[in-house]
Amino acid sequence: GSAAAGTVTRTTCGYCGVGCTLQVRVTGGEVAAVLPARDGPVNSGHACVKGRFAYGFLRAPDRLTRPLLRRGGRLEPVGWDEAIGHVARAMREAVAAAGPDTVAAISSARATNEENYLVQKFMRVVIGTNNVDNCSRLCHSPSAAGLTASFGLAGGTDAFEDVERADCLLVVGANPAEAHPVAGARLLAAALRGARLVVADPRAVGLARYADVHLRPRPGTNVALFHGLAHVILAEGLADEDFLRDRTTGLAELRELLAGYPPRAVQEITGVPAADLVAAARHYGRARRPAIVYGLGVTEHLHGTDGVRALANLAILRGAVGTGRGAGVTALRGQNNVQGASDMGALPDALPGYGKVTDPAARGRAERVWGVPLPDRPGLRIPDMFAAARGGRLRVLWIIGEDVCQTDPETGRVVAALAACPLVVCQELFLSETARRADVVLPAAAWPEKDGTFVNFDRRVQRVRPALPAPGEARADFAIVHALAAALGADLGCRTPAEALAECARLTPLFAGLSHERLDREGAVRWPAPAADRPGTASLYRERFATPDGRAHLAAAPYLPPGEEPDADYPLILITGRRWAHYNSGTMTRRTPNLRLDPRDQLDVHPDDAARLGLRDGDEVAVESRHGRARLRAAVGDQVAPGQVFCAFHFPGSGVNRLTATRGDTATSCPEYKVTPVRVRRA
Ligand code: SF4
Repeated sequence: GSAAAGTVTRTTCGYCGVGCTLQVRVTGGEVAAVLPARDGPVNSGHACVKGRFAYGFLRAPDRLTRPLLRRGGRLEPVGWDEAIGHVARAMREAVAAAGPDTVAAISSARATNEENYLVQKFMRVVIGTNNVDNCSRLCHSPSAAGLTASFGLAGGTDAFEDVERADCLLVVGANPAEAHPVAGARLLAAALRGARLVVADPRAVGLARYADVHLRPRPGTNVALFHGLAHVILAEGLADEDFLRDRTTGLAELRELLAGYPPRAVQEITGVPAADLVAAARHYGRARRPAIVYGLGVTEHLHGTDGVRALANLAILRGAVGTGRGAGVTALRGQNNVQGASDMGALPDALPGYGKVTDPAARGRAERVWGVPLPDRPGLRIPDMFAAARGGRLRVLWIIGEDVCQTDPETGRVVAALAACPLVVCQELFLSETARRADVVLPAAAWPEKDGTFVNFDRRVQRVRPALPAPGEARADFAIVHALAAALGADLGCRTPAEALAECARLTPLFAGLSHERLDREGAVRWPAPAADRPGTASLYRERFATPDGRAHLAAAPYLPPGEEPDADYPLILITGRRWAHYNSGTMTRRTPNLRLDPRDQLDVHPDDAARLGLRDGDEVAVESRHGRARLRAAVGDQVAPGQVFCAFHFPGSGVNRLTATRGDTATSCPEYKVTPVRVRRA
């Protein structure tokens, strides 16, 4: 349109992993409105309160518009050349003095695929280390590990359209009505059309009101719950024996293990009444097309990967994956591009497309494209980066768009790690809790200002297009990484995001058929996309599973208790999660009218516990765990079960993550955010 009428740009929402297509209208250099695209492949004209209204942060008065450098204890504005030169010098000196593994980068599940691709390439090619990770470490790393081990690939098994066509939905450890509203609405619509709905969640989440059965396991007992469901499916002859014989392995071991999980025993562990467990297992087990959808309530546990695999067992037992008889297992991704950041190899053990850094063949492929020998030792995971910093083994920590001092567990120890690291570089939109502690702050572009692609929760690769320029001197992460490489005398190639995706396509078969040009033409393509002239893949594993032997692998890990149990000193279990108006650290949504919808973090307390503690709704409370303390306002209500409390982590003031523990999933280090014993008293 004309300049007066403004421009309308079609792009992908930068908030959650649903991946809604949005139309961003810009007038006079500012966003005037954001409307959902009617033909958006996921959202068909819908959007939630975040995608639709949370854009005011773009021109918030405290948006970072110039690089900052710490001098004499204060962050002062400097030019780009000086800031980049400072970081490059520190990196060069660290590598020369103590080797490449003294430099580490935390890439971003909010950044584009192309940016993640470039960051990991920079770390591997220019620095020579695998010390690169992304925040999926803290949310869905158990999904990548578990789904890969069970099926072969690190994504959900089916398209969301197939989930919607299911006649039984098992929604586990997720609150899509608030955290993934457009997907939540589609799930609810499917239930209202007649699909059975089984919700497994300790809290009475929005969907639970519509559930045929609501299972409320004690936090930390998922594996026992899933084994209990599997026990009933096998015991009642509801398993798909032909499928199990022809396309799976591990049934004998699983059968033996499941003998120990009859409904009564599972009731003892989980607190879920045996009759409810049996009813849920029958719904899922008798459905013709069952589907499982899950969230971080499955992954953020000491045994999160075991949980993902025990859930995958259910789909395998029913032959609901790779057959068209159901929509296997779908992970609701919390962040817009948590799938893509991992796909692109922003991981310490994996290259783009998940080839292991320890595998000479995978390394060889990347070495041929990038033209340099690559490091073969896995790098540090995020929690290990902080430990290395505290131990004096890290000299440069480069953090891209993650507010680790607010969202990572035991934030007191994260703050100590940053203080101990000689140079902390932070790429951010605002002076976040992390940025204000950094030595160099580089002002970054936000999602409506960027060019590239995101991958949503059902593996759809979609275009991200700039609707307006970044303010002041802020730059896209893509440009910042290039500038840093140039300052170190390196050329990363792929000058544009389109070229970066093209290079990635040469490197990884999952993305082989993808290009910006194709995505502009077709709108969205799901990986694996094997060739430019072949469609993407909606449902995986129709011919064979992607495991080495081509079979789905049942897992037979026993239930093990969570890392901490409540006791007389810490009698309540704290669960953390998100609320509908805000997104993660709240850095963006708190600077929008959404703040009025939800102005503070609150601690949900059940009325029975409130009565026992002498608390009234709105009281200030002191919350203590074995790791730290926080102050919150109590919200008395029965969404939480007795003995449990719930809080989001959207506001820095509440300090909720001072309470949570660093200890994490035994396979992937994903923190056990969902089980923190606490005590609560009136402040
Ligand atoms: Fe954005 Fe997710 Fe809301 Fe869609 S559901 S508008 S992707 S935040």
